Amino acid sequence: MVALLVFWAAFRSPDTEFRSTLHVFGTLVEIIIRDTDEAAAQRAISAVSASFQRMHTGWHSWEHGELRDLNQAIAVGRSETVSSFLLPLIHQAKQFYRLSDGLFNPAIGALVAEWGFHADKPETGAIPSPETIRALLSQNPTMDDLVFDGTRIASRNRSVRLDFGGFAKGAALDRAAEILKSFGIENAVLNAGGDLRVLGDHGNRRWRAGIRHPLDWGLIASVDLVAGEGLFTSGNYERYREHEGRRYTHIIDPRNGMPIDRIVSVSVIHPNGALADAAATALSIAGPTDWSRVARRMGVNYVLLVEKTGTVYLSPEMKKRVTFVGTPPEKVVVPPWRHTDAPKPTKKDVATEPE
Ligand code: AMP
Ligand code: MG
Repeated sequence: MVALLVFWAAFRSPDTEFRSTLHVFGTLVEIIIRDTDEAAAQRAISAVSASFQRMHTGWHSWEHGELRDLNQAIAVGRSETVSSFLLPLIHQAKQFYRLSDGLFNPAIGALVAEWGFHADKPETGAIPSPETIRALLSQNPTMDDLVFDGTRIASRNRSVRLDFGGFAKGAALDRAAEILKSFGIENAVLNAGGDLRVLGDHGNRRWRAGIRHPLDWGLIASVDLVAGEGLFTSGNYERYREHEGRRYTHIIDPRNGMPIDRIVSVSVIHPNGALADAAATALSIAGPTDWSRVARRMGVNYVLLVEKTGTVYLSPEMKKRVTFVGTPPEKVVVPPWRHTDAPKPTKKDVATEPE
């Protein structure tokens, strides 16, 4: 992972927009702040920058910092105290694990590492053997293995390796948005390579976002974001490795230990960026037959999913909002969406307090 905070370049554009680019989790985050004075914008950006720096060291599962320390403690059966900066992320991870029926499972860090995605550049060379995958699956690491005692965390299962790569960007942009708000910023956008969190509006219109085409150059669709929303996309084109002519992506199905194969991208809109990010990953795994059930269960209404055949699946709400860019897809499927089907999350599902 590249060092944090490569550069900072704020400048004033004609209609009082301040732009700055920060770096977190190996991604450039562009921050655009409107309708405020330069000093306020710069103070807010400095605070976001400091927070990103902390996330970068504290939330990384295999390099330096608290999360790696916790993973190492779990491996040897020890408990570990975690900071109030990391703890809420662990509770969120457990919540998303439960809401997604285990498809989003940030405890499978060992599998992700075995597939070679615990490095800046995915590994090349041989892929894990079926025996290795079977052995890791048989250890069955889950978020429910964690035992919370206030800020101390232990695991009943030593094979748990926490990897928050599936929703850390969403959580990071949520926190950044809160920081901007606390500095009195009302209109802003945080853009991490197409994953967005917006505050307020863009002058007298909404912030408009593009969704990258996973199978072609350019965009597949555009959508206007309502104040406070986030748009997050999981794409198999983002991180992958190739072996003997086959492409293996970084999203792993915890049921069989294999990289997903049928879905090439999922975009989710939700005001909770961490949830949107986790849901985009979970729905990529749920695939063309199960995604709408899992989306309802996760409380996510706006979904665009692209299968490798080019077929696009939309939730009915998303259909009302997206505009396709260029040639529309040949096949668009909008499954019926019965809200009453959605099981209400139980209190346990949404618990954020230590158990
Ligand atoms: P995203 O780009 O948000 O879909 O996140 C992909 C990242 O999530 C991977 O690089 C892994 O670090 C992690 N990951 C892979 N498979 C899973 C899974 N089944 N549940 C949770 N996180 C995962
Ligand atoms: Mg994600």
